[in-house]
Amino acid sequence: MPTTMENWNPGKKQERYPNVPYAEKERLFLEVKSDPRYEDFLYGCYECGICVSACPSARFYDYSPRVIAQAMAREDIERIYEIMVEDIWNCAQCFSCVRCPRGNNPGGLVTLLREVAVRNGLQETREVLKGYSRVIYKVMLKGNQVSPDMLQPDFFPDWGPWVQQFSANMSVWRRAIPVDTLRGVTDAAWRVDSKTLRELYTIWFETGNMEIIKEVDEGLYDLLVEVMEEELEEG
Ligand code: SF4
Ligand code: SF4
Repeated sequence: MPTTMENWNPGKKQERYPNVPYAEKERLFLEVKSDPRYEDFLYGCYECGICVSACPSARFYDYSPRVIAQAMAREDIERIYEIMVEDIWNCAQCFSCVRCPRGNNPGGLVTLLREVAVRNGLQETREVLKGYSRVIYKVMLKGNQVSPDMLQPDFFPDWGPWVQQFSANMSVWRRAIPVDTLRGVTDAAWRVDSKTLRELYTIWFETGNMEIIKEVDEGLYDLLVEVMEEELEEG
């Protein structure tokens, strides 16, 4: 809703996502809170900032584990929704923040927020994860992750200037990494044998991981299912 003379209210905090009903934001928070890990990850917050001083992401992004712990401790539904949509993907999941004197695990709270964001297929989450589809595809089907050809600014915009440097030096990377790996065939890198892959496929189906991927990227899901089912039938 645009701010007009009629609805302007300087005393009221401006909602950043007014189009999302409060009840929906609350529902998402309650889904996070209902996770059995939640009570182990949050005991309140002294607002001491120790987690921020330990956090590598806080150095490089407009990001603060203290703000996350505070918002969760206060059950500030609007702020938590903003965090779920904007902040959580800046966390490196390094868990340096577990040195919190209150016993909190802000990185763990981020994990829970991410899981709920993905499970609910939030549009912003789909956008953020778009660049990782090829990585997931490679990891799940080949047992390998990033090949140099993937290091392009479009796929990894969050890498900033670093990814430009990689893509600009592709000829050097091509000389350094075996050609087969560049084509997506991992024999020259490391191979996951068929038995292990079939076990992994079964685990991913049975634990609901495939359903989670479907929420984020249906095209990738279809591709993975096709290859995995073929492999499982052969086994
Ligand atoms: S270290 Fe713990 S108590 Fe201190 S601000 Fe961070 S979460 Fe809060
Ligand atoms: S887990 Fe996330 S919030 Fe915690 S220190 Fe690492 S980057 Fe910061």
